[in-house]
Amino acid sequence: MAYEGRCYCGKVRYRVNAEPLRVMHCHCSICRRVSAAPVVTWITFPTKDLEWIQGEPSTLKSTPEASRQFCSDCGSHMVFEVDGAKELDITLASLDDHDDIEVGYHIFNGTRVKWLKLSDGLPEYDDWGPDV
Ligand SMILES: [Zn+2]
Ligand SMILES: [Zn+2]
Repeated sequence: MAYEGRCYCGKVRYRVNAEPLRVMHCHCSICRRVSAAPVVTWITFPTKDLEWIQGEPSTLKSTPEASRQFCSDCGSHMVFEVDGAKELDITLASLDDHDDIEVGYHIFNGTRVKWLKLSDGLPEYDDWGPDV
């Protein structure tokens, strides 16, 4: 199955021809600051299966080991990737169709903002979670 998504303005579009490996809410301080939002929800795919089908994203080197890709026109945050990793994360909300996707758990919960209260009953981890 193919998953497609785009930035807010539509200049950049992508397609992933793979099944997702996992889905999680990230509460780390870098996701928070890059997105200016309290939490970012990620869906993980094999790196080789992502293709940019319209436009090109810009890259932010967010830490020495990882980068993020976003639209330089509208700022939508689409990809997180650790250098050399065989998988990458895509912002779940940038997919065209994400209503029926189930989220597995919370990661970096120890740095979650105090004003965001959780009540979904999902497991909470203070690190990358159980699948990395
Ligand atoms: Zn855009
Ligand atoms: Zn994060």
